[in-house]
Amino acid sequence: MALVSYVLFHATVAVAVDCIALDRDGKTCSLSGRVLTRAQNGGLLLEVPDGTFWAIQPQEITRESADDRPFQYLSREQFVEQLLSVLPDGFQAHTTARYVICYDTSKAYAAWCGGLFERLNQAFMNYWTRRGIRLYQPEYPLPVIIFSSKTAYREFAKDELGEAAGSILGYYSLRTNRVTMYDLTGVESIRSQRSRRSTVADINQLLARPEAEPLVATIVHEATHQLAYNSGMQTRYADNPMWLSEGLAIYFETPDLSSYRGWRGIGQINRNRLNAFRESLTSRTPDAMARLVADNNRFKNPENTLAAYAESWSLSYFFINKRPKEFQAYLQLVAKKPRLIWDEPARRLEDFKQCFGDDLVALDQEFLRYMASIK
Ligand SMILES: [Zn+2]
Repeated sequence: MALVSYVLFHATVAVAVDCIALDRDGKTCSLSGRVLTRAQNGGLLLEVPDGTFWAIQPQEITRESADDRPFQYLSREQFVEQLLSVLPDGFQAHTTARYVICYDTSKAYAAWCGGLFERLNQAFMNYWTRRGIRLYQPEYPLPVIIFSSKTAYREFAKDELGEAAGSILGYYSLRTNRVTMYDLTGVESIRSQRSRRSTVADINQLLARPEAEPLVATIVHEATHQLAYNSGMQTRYADNPMWLSEGLAIYFETPDLSSYRGWRGIGQINRNRLNAFRESLTSRTPDAMARLVADNNRFKNPENTLAAYAESWSLSYFFINKRPKEFQAYLQLVAKKPRLIWDEPARRLEDFKQCFGDDLVALDQEFLRYMASIK
C-alpha cells in the first residue's frame, strides 16, 4: 500500500483544475485534475475526474499549469464511457443508484452484484452512523468491473497484482478506486449442472449455498474496502494500519444472502476467522497485539498472513463490542491522517495507546479473555 515515501510539505485542495504533463517509463502524458497533496521534494498526488489517483515523482513532471475551471468529477454518463474505454471489447454497463458496474458476463450477474453492493452500502452507512461515525456518500459513482472469465480477469489485473492475480477472486485498488473481480458463478467449486444462471433469483440461489459463502465473502470484503475509502472513514494514500483496514472489511464479510430485505449478518461472529485466531494462539507471542498495531509486517510472511487477518478481525470485533467509544475515537483519528505520510511504528503505537490506554499487557489479557468467552 505504501507507494512513495514523501515528506509532506503542505496539503492543498485545489479549486481550479491542475494540468500536469509528465514523462513516465519513456511515455509522455498530460493529466488534468486536482492536486490533493504536494510533497516537500516536489512530488504530488493528483486526482483525475474519474477518481483515479496519480502519485507523481518530481523528476517525472515536465510541465505544470492551472486554469480557472473548477475541478469536477465526470458525470455518470462520462464515467461509464471512461470506464468502458479502459476495458477490452464486449463490456457493457449496469448502473445502480451508487455504482457503475462494467461487465462482460451475464446481465443477471451484474444486476445481482448491483443489488448486493447497494444493500451493503446502505447497511454500512446505517451501521456506522448509528454508532456515531459521520460518513458521507461520494460525489461520484463507485466503479466495479466484472469479468466473465478468470483468464481475462487475470490478464487485466496482472499489472496491479502480479502473479497473485491468479489466486485472488477480486480486489479493490486504492489507485483507481475500482473493485475488479470475475463472475463467481463460473467458479468450479460451486458450478452446478447449469453452467450459467440466467436470472437474479437463479444466481441468488446458487450463491446462497454454503460452499459459495467464502466466495461471496471475498467480494463483500473488497466492496467494504471501497466503501470505507469513499465515505470518509479512511483516506486513500494516507497511513491506514492494515489491521484496521482488514478488520473493518472482515467485520462485514458475513453476509446473509437468504434475506433479500436486509443485511442482518453485520458483525456476526466470523467462524472461519475465529477458528483461525484460536489455532494461532499456540504460537502467539505476548507482544502480538503491539506488533499487529505498530506496522504491517505480520501480514507479509505468507505463513502468518492468515493469523494476522484473523487477529485483525478478532481485535476489531472485541473493540466494537467491548470498547466502542475508544474504537470510535481511533477511527476518527485514523480518518484524519494526511495523505502521503507513512507513520513510523512508534507513532502508530502512540496513536493506539492514546485511544485504548497505555497498558497494552492488560488490554491484551482482556482481549484474549473476551475472545475465549465467545461460544
Ligand atoms: Zn482486505
